[in-house]
Amino acid sequence: MTSGSYCVVGGGISGLTAAYRLRAADADADITLFEPGDRLGGILRTERVGGQSMDVGAEAFVLRRPEMPALLAELGLSGRQLATTGARPLIYSGQSLHPLPAGTVVGIPSSAASMAGLVDEATVARIDAEPGRPLDWRPGGDPAVADLVGDRFGDQVVARSVDPLLSGVYAGSAATIGLRAAAPGVAAALDRGAACLTDAVRQALPPATGAPVFAAIDGGYQVLIDELVRRSGLRWVRAAVHRLERAGAGWDLRDESGARWHADAVVLAVPPARAAALVAGAAPRTAAAAGRIASASSAVVALAVPGDTPFPRCSGVLVASGERLRAKAVTLSSRKWGRKGGARTDIQLLRLSFGRFGDGLAESASDDELLDWAVGDLATVFGLTVEPVDARVQRWLAAMPQYGPGHADLIAEVRAGLPPGLAVAGSYLDGIGVPACVGAAGRAVEALAAEVAR
Ligand SMILES: Cc1cc2nc3c(=O)[nH]c(=O)nc-3n(C[C@H](O)[C@H](O)[C@H](O)COP(=O)(O)OP(=O)(O)OC[C@H]3O[C@@H](n4cnc5c(N)ncnc54)[C@H](O)[C@@H]3O)c2cc1C
Repeated sequence: MTSGSYCVVGGGISGLTAAYRLRAADADADITLFEPGDRLGGILRTERVGGQSMDVGAEAFVLRRPEMPALLAELGLSGRQLATTGARPLIYSGQSLHPLPAGTVVGIPSSAASMAGLVDEATVARIDAEPGRPLDWRPGGDPAVADLVGDRFGDQVVARSVDPLLSGVYAGSAATIGLRAAAPGVAAALDRGAACLTDAVRQALPPATGAPVFAAIDGGYQVLIDELVRRSGLRWVRAAVHRLERAGAGWDLRDESGARWHADAVVLAVPPARAAALVAGAAPRTAAAAGRIASASSAVVALAVPGDTPFPRCSGVLVASGERLRAKAVTLSSRKWGRKGGARTDIQLLRLSFGRFGDGLAESASDDELLDWAVGDLATVFGLTVEPVDARVQRWLAAMPQYGPGHADLIAEVRAGLPPGLAVAGSYLDGIGVPACVGAAGRAVEALAAEVAR
């Protein structure tokens, strides 16, 4: 890549990784990043709760994908990678706690045995008999997870096993998320001709190594944000971009104050609805596809409670759909990650998440309501009276793109409509999690570099 000027729009992990990759590709580049928020990081946000660092947006990353361990190693931060303690989550269903079933892919069972106790006996028998039922699978198909799983195993498996996992990842449900996004390995096994759904899940299960599935960063995601900002040498303009127009071989951008900026190339790292609005004139095909991606909102209530509060041995609780609780998940953060060096022993940290696609909770509930619901739900789930010593409510509005059926086709459209010198990054492209955002940002910069090389 020859030296040039670049504008990155959006200062979440996608924009910051793009800025860092641009610097790595072009040591002399002029990199301007636009972010209207009061800090960089977007949904990666570390706060002090009970006197300790705590992530109030994303808190973890999946270790099965290579991007985060590789990025941390590149930045000299591998020593900060913190694995889970091994404590596992429980499922709250039918007003009681159950172990998280083993041998599933996003809650879709590979055998009847793994669902025993969580679903009724008729459902267990139905899963057992599934291999005997002909499967009507169209290779390349992408049904909503609820349609396929409901048809094969019944509604209880959807509500009690699949929904709790998908509402955590996407703030969606099995009804709003497509199989290819939620369980790509299962879809691929069905394409290859798996005889039934349980067989496809068996083929897609990762080998049981006993290794931790998730990791976090000691000190919180802020550690990563600071390092990306430092290494990328970006100039932060604290403003939203309102317009983007072709100008010769490059781009003109207008920020919210009306100031004009020029760049040879632009990386748009904003949520899909914003990206659609910004490129409506310059890339209508991209705008039309990005504009069709809906997003869900979520609220996190982070609590510090007395260290001796007797929670059961687990990393948290995922809530089945249809339960009389407001929260969709509880994470016992101190149990999940252990007490790190210097952490106070007289408090425990935990977080409750609220908001599923379409329920409006994260937008409409007041902070006091969310706090009351948090304490009430903890009493219902654990039978404990919890007395917070510190609390923080954090909302993430329209923050979680819904990977509905056919999402990959929509993203192919988004990318196919991009004119030269314009690239996209973000959680709506190649996966919603932080590792996928890191990967997509790298691909955005590679795409710009390939254009320069042509
Ligand atoms: C509550 C919650 C928990 C999560 N937990 C996890 C987890 O544990 N593990 C995991 O891997 N993933 C998790 N995720 C998902 C992950 O955090 C996000 O997908 C990821 O952080 C998105 O990063 P991003 O940079 O693409 O978007 P964002 O972080 O949303 O950043 C986009 C930025 O663009 C800015 N912006 C918007 N419009 C403009 C404009 N016009 N001009 C300039 N800037 C603009 C916004 O202010 C924002 O800062 C979670 C998400 C949520 C909401």
